[in-house]
Amino acid sequence: MTERPVPQKGILNIAPYVPGRSSAPGKKAAENIKLSANESPLGASPKAIEAVRAAAEKLEIYPEGSSRELRQALGEVHGIDPERIVVGAGSDEVLHLLAQTYIGDGDEAVMSQYGFMVYPIVTQAAGGTPVIAPETDYRADVDALLAAVTEKTRIVFLANPNNPTGTYLSADELDRLHAGLPSNVLLVIDSAYAEYVTAADYGVGISLVERADNVVMVRTFSKMGLAAARVGWLYGPEHLVDAVNRIRGPFNVSVLGQVAATAAVRDLAFTKALRAHNGQWRDWLTAKIASNRLRVLPSQGNFILVLFPETPGQTASDANAALLERGLVVREMGGYGISNGLRISIGSEDAMRAVADCLQTFMDEQ
Ligand code: PMP
Repeated sequence: MTERPVPQKGILNIAPYVPGRSSAPGKKAAENIKLSANESPLGASPKAIEAVRAAAEKLEIYPEGSSRELRQALGEVHGIDPERIVVGAGSDEVLHLLAQTYIGDGDEAVMSQYGFMVYPIVTQAAGGTPVIAPETDYRADVDALLAAVTEKTRIVFLANPNNPTGTYLSADELDRLHAGLPSNVLLVIDSAYAEYVTAADYGVGISLVERADNVVMVRTFSKMGLAAARVGWLYGPEHLVDAVNRIRGPFNVSVLGQVAATAAVRDLAFTKALRAHNGQWRDWLTAKIASNRLRVLPSQGNFILVLFPETPGQTASDANAALLERGLVVREMGGYGISNGLRISIGSEDAMRAVADCLQTFMDEQ
């Protein structure tokens, strides 16, 4: 028997990330309405598209490796130091970089029960072990997260608001979580959906990064109309930025991604419109479909999580089949351990009316 290259121990124990479907079986592309990946309900900023068109004229030159202009724009818009920002090819890359930097063989990372599925993957890829803290009614539980910390813990990952539940911790709760952590444990606050939050007591993480040496905030452009461009970023302490930059690929973000994101971050009117549309239709859809049989978790993201009864004929997969029949493509949540849940991204007005109508008919028929 010839030997073949063997992946490092642990790699083959990783359950691969399975994205939501993008089309309904048997439907033509134009018949599908994709509400399965929390993309922008209003497309991309027209300024970002214009910037990509112009940049596409010149593809033979390498990008500026540190995404300097984008960091400058982010610094101005968020009032933060561009030198403390690292940009990645999507926030998935940023999360991988953080895990590679801080986690090694035998280390642990703590994450919440229904937290974002990439956290266990980046932890295991770095040789570490994910430790899951139970949630209370689909909400991250500060005490459970703190109780899961051991002397082996290197990172605590928290998505705020969380995908797929849409629930969030307040700024005070984040402070309490941070205060309970040993100073050598890194708190990663993944604020992927920050632009959509309307709750007044939400804290995005910036002020905590500014006050502490062991906190980093991670963000993405994917939910803001640029999922195809693959751009995410972090804001953290200088020592973390220095360490992460040592392993970051020298040209990790494409020119097209950099120019798209730079234009988008400066297009404040577009961000505002996106947020207003999302807030209006998230509330509308929640109110329209919540009933004594369908529970909708209160969401601060650009999606809602709907919990179905276990009654045969009324389950989440039965509802999904009815939605797919009409080309409405949403995400089943079995992979997250929520087999009675469907996650529905907020889309256009027409899409939201179609979802509400379909679910109403579905429940009435049972
Ligand atoms: N964090 C959270 C909480 C997410 O929901 C997602 C997207 N599903 C990401 C990070 C990754 O986003 P991206 O890699 O597209 O920037």
